[in-house]
Amino acid sequence: MRVTAVAILNTLLAALPCGPHCIVSPHPDDAALSMGGILMLLALSPAMPRRVLLTPFTRSIYAPGIPAESRTQEIVSVVRLQEDAAFASAVHAAYFPLDMPDASLRGYNDNTELGEVMDTDRSPGQLVSCLRAVIPSRLGVVWCPLAIGGHVDHILARNGVLSTVSADVVIIYYEDLPYAAGFDEATIGAFAQRVHENLQPLSIDIDSVWQAKLAGLRCYSSQLGKAELAAVEQAAVRRAIPPGKRAERIWIANGPIYVTLP
Ligand SMILES: [Zn+2]
Repeated sequence: MRVTAVAILNTLLAALPCGPHCIVSPHPDDAALSMGGILMLLALSPAMPRRVLLTPFTRSIYAPGIPAESRTQEIVSVVRLQEDAAFASAVHAAYFPLDMPDASLRGYNDNTELGEVMDTDRSPGQLVSCLRAVIPSRLGVVWCPLAIGGHVDHILARNGVLSTVSADVVIIYYEDLPYAAGFDEATIGAFAQRVHENLQPLSIDIDSVWQAKLAGLRCYSSQLGKAELAAVEQAAVRRAIPPGKRAERIWIANGPIYVTLP
């Protein structure tokens, strides 16, 4: 029997607990970049678990795709919200923005946002409080970033999830793109092992929805340029099993309290 991409994903879905899926995207665009193909496949899946796209850091002044004179916090934040909502609609997910300021508005710069969380940063506690208030109590699966590349907002989102969800919720980690495209396999594996010692990689074939993934990324025209899209395609080709197709890679713990990998 030929196993299609949807069938592979459905095999995984069958092994997961029932209940809604919460997709945590630190910023607008992270989930689309890193697991947009999987979200397109989920939208096509007969199993159709209910999905919520939860984006914590939606306030920002970062928007290279809009004119410099328009890059006020108010305008940029509204544009990014609209882009993220359009993507959520495209993948048939409910949309839940948390309206928190991103690192650029909390005193970080391009270098420090890829480092340690500053002592003066109050967002870790605020984020956990928000997540406790909004993450559904009856949840099946949370998809969250591995935080490859070490962006403080990605680390906060991942750690916020880990300290919020109950032990019976399966956590699936996605590789943060485009950051992950810049690391070799050994480094990515080391990142994953630091998050959870039993994490195993699983490539999901997204070849059949590649054009749909690109269409989803076009929702984020204020953010994404040729460099980001090239890195996403390079990563998709590298992760494909067998070679010649495109894939997204996720990491999941394999064991009795988690899930038996297909
Ligand atoms: Zn991000």
